[in-house]
Amino acid sequence: MREKLLLLWELQKIDAAVLEIEKGAETIPKKIREIEDGLDVHRAELGVLNTEAEGLRKEARDIEAHSSEEAQKHRKWKTRLNDIKSPREYQALSRELELGERQVRDADEKALTLMQEIEDKQKVIDGKSEDLKGYEAEVRAKVRELREAHNRLREDAEAAKTGRDAVLEKMTPGLTKKYERGANYTGGIAVAKMTDGTGMGCNMRLRPQHVVEIQRNESIETCPNCQRILVAEDLIKSAELD
Ligand SMILES: [Zn+2]
Repeated sequence: MREKLLLLWELQKIDAAVLEIEKGAETIPKKIREIEDGLDVHRAELGVLNTEAEGLRKEARDIEAHSSEEAQKHRKWKTRLNDIKSPREYQALSRELELGERQVRDADEKALTLMQEIEDKQKVIDGKSEDLKGYEAEVRAKVRELREAHNRLREDAEAAKTGRDAVLEKMTPGLTKKYERGANYTGGIAVAKMTDGTGMGCNMRLRPQHVVEIQRNESIETCPNCQRILVAEDLIKSAELD
């Protein structure tokens, strides 16, 4: 039974090390997503600015189109003015013409202001696009680094499994099954040390009678609280498997 207990402990030591490395590796894909998502803020900001600039351009185009239509109309009116004989009619048309021309001037001025606004906004857009390119390059480098780290950890996890098969070979199918059931139940840590009467799986103080039984190393005892198989620290130390 001593040998069985020690095999259980040995297997647990290997699996705990592998688990530790795998846990570290698991955090990396999430980190990569977070870093990549960080760019979305900048992309969204640029999107808003581009939409605004497009709106201003459309407004400017509309004003210009309307202006040139009006100007064309005014040219026609001017030719007609020469043919008008009635002074009242002449006055009415020339007043309308004057009003129309003033409106065209105002519109042209507005268009000019818009062009300036567009130019200013474009400068901001260009600057932010340049910044975004920089951020994207940084993110690419960081993601590459994280992917490499991820691969290394996976290799480390594989390397940490060295010797596992040899331990399994020494175990009976029944013992392996017991270990695996425990590992499934406890999230990978099926075996815990008992140190000074405490089960180190969940740090529970054990009944003195139970402690004595565990120290005999003649049976497979489990913690009444976390169900982990308990192996006496003295036994582990004596086998130099600490
Ligand atoms: Zn426990």
